[in-house]
Amino acid sequence: MTKKDIINLLETIATYMELSLENPFKVSAYRKAAAAIERDPRALSEIEDFSEMKGIGKGVNDVITEYVETGRSSILDDLKETVPVSLVQMLKLPTLGPKKIAKLHKELGVVTLEGLKAECVAGNVSELSGFGKKTEDNISKAIDELLTRPETYPIEKIQTFRKIIEASLDEITGIDRYDIAGSARRYKEMSKDLDFIVQTTDAHSVAEALVNLPFVKDVVARGERKLSVVIAHDLDQIGVDIRFVTAEAYHTTLHHFTGSKEHNVKMRQIAKSRGEKVSEYGVEKEGELLTFESESDFFSHFDLPYIAPTMRETGEETDIEVSDIVTLDDIRGDLHMHTVYSDGAHSVREMVEACIDKGYDYMIITDHSKSLRVANGLDEDRLWQQIEEIKKIRPEYPGIDIYTGTEMDILKDGSLDFSEDMLKELDYVIAAIHSSFQQTEDEIMHRLRSACENPYVRHIAHPTGRLIGGRAGYAVDFEKLIQMSKDTRTVMEVNANPRRLDLSSSVIRNSGLMLTVNTDAHHTQHLEFMEYGTATLQKGLIEKHQVINTFSREDFREWVKKGK
Ligand SMILES: [Zn+2]
Ligand SMILES: [Zn+2]
Repeated sequence: MTKKDIINLLETIATYMELSLENPFKVSAYRKAAAAIERDPRALSEIEDFSEMKGIGKGVNDVITEYVETGRSSILDDLKETVPVSLVQMLKLPTLGPKKIAKLHKELGVVTLEGLKAECVAGNVSELSGFGKKTEDNISKAIDELLTRPETYPIEKIQTFRKIIEASLDEITGIDRYDIAGSARRYKEMSKDLDFIVQTTDAHSVAEALVNLPFVKDVVARGERKLSVVIAHDLDQIGVDIRFVTAEAYHTTLHHFTGSKEHNVKMRQIAKSRGEKVSEYGVEKEGELLTFESESDFFSHFDLPYIAPTMRETGEETDIEVSDIVTLDDIRGDLHMHTVYSDGAHSVREMVEACIDKGYDYMIITDHSKSLRVANGLDEDRLWQQIEEIKKIRPEYPGIDIYTGTEMDILKDGSLDFSEDMLKELDYVIAAIHSSFQQTEDEIMHRLRSACENPYVRHIAHPTGRLIGGRAGYAVDFEKLIQMSKDTRTVMEVNANPRRLDLSSSVIRNSGLMLTVNTDAHHTQHLEFMEYGTATLQKGLIEKHQVINTFSREDFREWVKKGK
């Protein structure tokens, strides 16, 4: 449990209270307490008594104490009993806050999105005080968007679906083995559905168990070898294809349905040139069907090394030397993470211990800088305080190099948030754009240039600011950025957060850039995002020597010391 969990709890209670039209003073007591904890620089383990904090009264303190001790909150449990789930789902409508939802519920009796839509169509919503015609239209449109199944889902959601299904597949008897296939196995940024290959000798009863899972909403097709269903989670729905295969055909079927299309075309060409034929059932050679013990065996049959699913993209992966391409095991440190000093959930010490658990040789603490007020950015005084803390704890952790750093804002006009006098005191400086995304390409490139040309800035974080399936990011001229990076020896980041994956695999492929891959962790669990980052590097066919956090402990120390 972290401070973030407590803040979330208090905010969730406040939201549920608003939805159930609770006394506004009570609601605001929870919001104030959440804000007080957010402002407090200490980690949870360092806080002994919440009631001593300004803004936290006895009632809220009891709620926190119960939650810290038991991991539960009886107040929230009670509220969840009384507030309909569909009202909570309405919070996903960008136009509606909890107060308005409570009003719609009370005045019009709406409990579902469909019901609310009907009231909008009938013009009843705009009749209520505080809801104009325009609001009614906006709500109506937002409901339509929410209720139509999107064509594709971003990788973060796809991997959530994947885990839900895998947890069930683990439980079903009669499944000998299974794997994800399709674009999700290749960590594609957007996918439209999920594919699984299941090895079983009893497809009938496995299919029966699958269609009875609570989240299966629809059975689209059910045959002997294939089952197609629609699953629902939250408000999302997605199609899932499950193929049942025998042990003999398992690996070629898995390969076949993993794709990509271009990769499969290439494999068929290679087979054809040898007078062979590839199919999901195996490799046909002189009228005989060859099957394989693993995908590695399948590739080596064609004198190819194992090509990881993430690399199976354009077909060019069969022509290059893949043995030098980065793997997760090559990553020796994480160079971008946050602590409670800014908007992270853990103390410096907790992040250090989490990085040690990951087996890293080095790490850099890079909290936000002063201009990023929404993230509680550090001014010079607090940054100094953090530098001192890091220096003090270093001797306790000889197994890892802990560097001081910052993720410094590149301001609107291209100036930087800290002076060079401050920057020279830090081991490592990241620069990033977090504001004024709407600027012209010239203005954005001016800002990126000014950061790259600064002698202390070693890397640019999430260089485009895009969010997958969300915002497009600001206007970047990639050709110029790549040149700038090389001219100034400023490294570009592949941000491993699955919402970002920025730079993307298509930008880094064949770019010749020096890169770094980092999780930008705001929580110890986020350190696990590295898997998405290395998948992106693999899709870009990036070799180990192009990624600075594959350097050995000594080489990295040297690289930091040497400067630009
Ligand atoms: Zn950032
Ligand atoms: Zn960050």
